[in-house]
Order: sequence, then C-alpha cells, then structure tokens
Amino acid sequence: MNSATRVLVTGAGGFIGHHLVKRLKAEGYWVRGVDIKEPDFEPTAADDFQLLDLRFWHNAVQATAHVSQVYNLAADMGGIGYITAKLADIARNNILINAHMLEAARLNGIKRYLYSSSACVYAGSKQNTADVTPLKEEDAYPAEPEPGYGWEKLFTEQLCQYYRTDYGFETRIVRFHNVYGPLGTYEGGKEKAPAAICRKVAMTEPEGVIDIWGDGKQTRSFMFIDDCVEGLLRLMASDYRDPLNLGTEEMVSVDELVDIVCKIANKRLRKRHQLDRPQGVRGRNSDNSRLRKVMGWEPTTPLRLGLEVTYHWIESELSQAGRVPELACATV
Ligand code: NAD
Repeated sequence: MNSATRVLVTGAGGFIGHHLVKRLKAEGYWVRGVDIKEPDFEPTAADDFQLLDLRFWHNAVQATAHVSQVYNLAADMGGIGYITAKLADIARNNILINAHMLEAARLNGIKRYLYSSSACVYAGSKQNTADVTPLKEEDAYPAEPEPGYGWEKLFTEQLCQYYRTDYGFETRIVRFHNVYGPLGTYEGGKEKAPAAICRKVAMTEPEGVIDIWGDGKQTRSFMFIDDCVEGLLRLMASDYRDPLNLGTEEMVSVDELVDIVCKIANKRLRKRHQLDRPQGVRGRNSDNSRLRKVMGWEPTTPLRLGLEVTYHWIESELSQAGRVPELACATV
C-alpha cells in the first residue's frame, strides 16, 4: 500500500537516517536517501541514493523532486566535544541546509515535511542540576538554548512554523533526546556518550581504567534507535504540528551508564574523571506527557537492553579490527 508513497530521507548516510530508510523500505515505501556520504557500516536500503551537499540550493531542489514526504535529518552534528568546539561551522552549515530544504520542499509540492530538532533547544537554566525536572515542550522558552547547534535548531523550528502559517505547508517537528544503537558512529569525535563509553569499555583490559568526561554525575536519558524510528513514523502520520519530545524518561548519570556497560561487558573498570573535558548541561530528561497524549505511545526499550545490543555490536566491530584486548575478548 505504501509503495505509491515516495519518501526522501536526508542524512540517510548517518545513524538515524540509515535506520529510518531500512524501516521505511520494510514498510513498503519507495525511498530516496540523500547525504554527503554513504552509510558507514552497511549499504543503504534506499531505492535511490544520491550524494548531494544540501547546503546548496540546486541540490536541495534535486533532492526534493518527485517525492511527497520528507524526513529532513541531515545536519552537521556530533557529541558534546564536537558541538561546543564548532559553533560557527555547525550553525552556518545547518542554517543553509534547513533554509534551502524547506523552500525547495515547498516549491516541489511536498505534502509532509518532518524536521529533526533536538533537546539542545531547551533553556540552559532549566538544566543546571543533576536531579533536573523533566523538560516539557514549553520549557524551550524564554529561549536560552545550547550555543550554535541549539540556537540553529530552535530557529529552524520557528521557520517550520512560519512556513505553516504563511504557506499552509505541513511540517512536523521532533525533538530527539540522545539516540543510541548499533550502526552509529563510535569514534572520531562525532560519537555520543553511549557509543564512546561502549568503545572505551570494549578496548580496556577487564580490570583497567577508563576516562570519563566530567565528574560522572551529570544526568541524561537515552532512547534506543528502534524506538526513535517508530516515533518518527508515528509523528509523520499524525496531525500534530507543534514541537514534540521523542525520548525516554529513564534518566541515569554518566557513572551509572558506565556501570551498566561494564556489567554487560563483565568488566570491573576504575573510572578516571576528566573534569576539564566538556560535559554539557548538568541534567536533562524528557517529559513525555505530551508524547503520550498525542500518540498514545512512547519509547519502551529499557536502557539495559538497548545497551546490550549496542555494546555487542561495537565490541564486535572493534574485535574484527583486532582492537579488543585478547584477555577482554575471552571474558565477554
Ligand atoms: P549523523 O551525524 O549520523 O547523521 C547526519 C547526517 O547528515 C550525516 O550522515 C551527515 O553526513 C549528513 N550531512 C551533514 N551535512 C550535510 C550536507 N551538507 N548535505 C547532506 N547531508 C549532510 O546524526 P544522527 O544522529 O543520525 O542525527 C540525525 C538528526 O537528528 C540530525 O538532524 C541531528 O541534529 C538530530 N538529532 C540527533 C540526536 C542523536 O542523539 N543522535 C539528538 C538530537 C538531534
């Protein structure tokens, strides 16, 4: 039934985009993927995959031709080290991608357009304790988002809403809270905390030491990739047009995250906290009240289960490259 619906996924060479393409194909959609690079770990499932830099207008027009739905996931982004070090590059690149994508999609007659925003839009002053009050959608205002990356996301949310008001253009806006899972970047500087921790644990001797950014007491919630993709399909199908959290309410400290991964790996590692490394806001958790109300659904994968799948994938990637200590291999 879905084969008649032609869908564009931008950022299809990236983590969430690649998983989304696979799911859309499994549901029977015709899918075009666009990115500046191919997926890192396996071939794309897209019917049509185009290497296009969406900062350029003509590429945005080409990408949005002859499709009816757009999931716009392309972005210059990474973990906290990357987004705090590259304020100008990230803000400029993402402004260009998103301004061009919205206008090209409108001119090409796109029926529904989903924009991937982030919990980085939330006001910093509402996230300065580890036992933070979970964030409701309205907590993004008065505006005080993460510099660079967060400001751009917040402005593009507004831009989507202006397109709706001025042109009746159908937009959906999702605010992801930390997504993790297999087939995601786990090294090189763009990886997020769960992947970085899995990598470090996998590469360390069973009773060794691992470095952790910050004092380990900073808190977050983490959503497994399958839940993320399910939420994206549900939001696209829904009539809800305002920004919506997509995350879990299972908040843990970074130290607790490390403990869970160590347990999965069957290792007893000593933590060495690096207080001079970036750690982002002190605490962040999603309030899913509106998500439950709008969708009658929320992510359900327990952190321990999702991390188990993720750890074993990262460990096997490293093991195949001969980068896991021999002794460690034997214990896992
Ligand atoms: P990712 O970095 O794996 O994927 C983004 C993709 O966009 C990359 O493959 C990248 O090559 C591509 N891209 C960058 N510049 C481009 C350009 N000029 N033209 C075309 N493609 C370009 O990141 P992800 O985790 O898959 O994130 C997807 C979306 O979700 C992004 O918009 C991101 O900001 C948002 N998000 C993700 C998380 C998370 O935890 N993963 C959290 C909040 C928001």
